[in-house]
Amino acid sequence: MNKTILHWSYLNFKDVPMDLFLYEDLEEVYLKENYISVIPKWLLNITTLKFIHLAGNNLGELPMDIYMLENLEFLDVSNNELKELPPTLGLLLNLQQLNVSGNQLSELPVELSSLRNLEQLNIAKNLFRRLPVQLSECVRLNELNVSDNEALVHIPERISNLPMLQSLAADRCALIYLPAALSKFMNHVRIFHNTAINYIPMVYERFYQNFYDNRQRTTPISINRKGLFWIRELETNCRLVLPVGTRTVFPVPSLENRVTLYDDCLHAIQTLNRSTPVYENSALHRLLPEPYISSHINNGPIARCTNTTCSRCLYTSYYFMVVKRRGSTSKQLFTCNFCTNRCALLWLGSNEKKYYQLPWRVSDDDDDDPEPESGK
Ligand SMILES: [Zn+2]
Repeated sequence: MNKTILHWSYLNFKDVPMDLFLYEDLEEVYLKENYISVIPKWLLNITTLKFIHLAGNNLGELPMDIYMLENLEFLDVSNNELKELPPTLGLLLNLQQLNVSGNQLSELPVELSSLRNLEQLNIAKNLFRRLPVQLSECVRLNELNVSDNEALVHIPERISNLPMLQSLAADRCALIYLPAALSKFMNHVRIFHNTAINYIPMVYERFYQNFYDNRQRTTPISINRKGLFWIRELETNCRLVLPVGTRTVFPVPSLENRVTLYDDCLHAIQTLNRSTPVYENSALHRLLPEPYISSHINNGPIARCTNTTCSRCLYTSYYFMVVKRRGSTSKQLFTCNFCTNRCALLWLGSNEKKYYQLPWRVSDDDDDDPEPESGK
């Protein structure tokens, strides 16, 4: 049986035409670039619908009852006037592609975490300041676009580390650092014009382009520094913000050879419960002293060991290096995170011809950036 597809884009519709009801087994409807301001209730009864394209209309909201479209796989409501999304979107369990870019959204409902079939999510050009870490339960996500959210300072590591994530776009945000835990299958990263990023975790080296060299010396003052862990790189006197959750960083080489017992515990708990998020595992949840351990587990590892034969998850403490490429004109700083001094030395041993280490020290709140040099 052929599926029914309606192409009703660019027709100056102010309302969704009732004629839609005349079509049997309607699966796809294109209503792009009309003037539709409301999704009518009756439309939600056409449960055969799998595909709705409503980009470029005047929608001010999505109906709470949208969950009735239980077979919906594709929803594009980009370039409308949405200020919030109904939590019931999380009940569209067959949804594979969701595009809400170009609206005025500032929060994503945590209920989207139920969308276990979601593969593509586009939330670009909105007003997001943060992303809910629960988005990391969308385990099939392979394409995430958060570009042009000018106040977005952070992408949770647990999201960047999603097992199937292949493409991440975060151009023109306000990221203060890049998540150092990155999906192994990532093959496309865009991070142009995040002017506060002044170093790149080694895991991004394969995506590195000269464009990222336009780094600025300072982190914008508007950032609330409370809770941030940062270091001072001493060759260029640059301040680097380390991933949120960082508690201790050890230099390389170091006399110690292991990360804390605390990180070992977190690693063990995570490994045991790989399949179930902690906040859904009530038995485990009761055992954990709130909110101490569970918050680290819920937020996931903040990096992986740069020694790729190890790749161990790192949670709060790690051995740390700032390196530059030898003989390169690029000023780009790369950073490495290791589980042990041993892993760090192994990595350095096989990469010494390519990189050299820069000195650094842990920085504190009073450690202000020097006055920017006047234009000499
Ligand atoms: Zn390691």
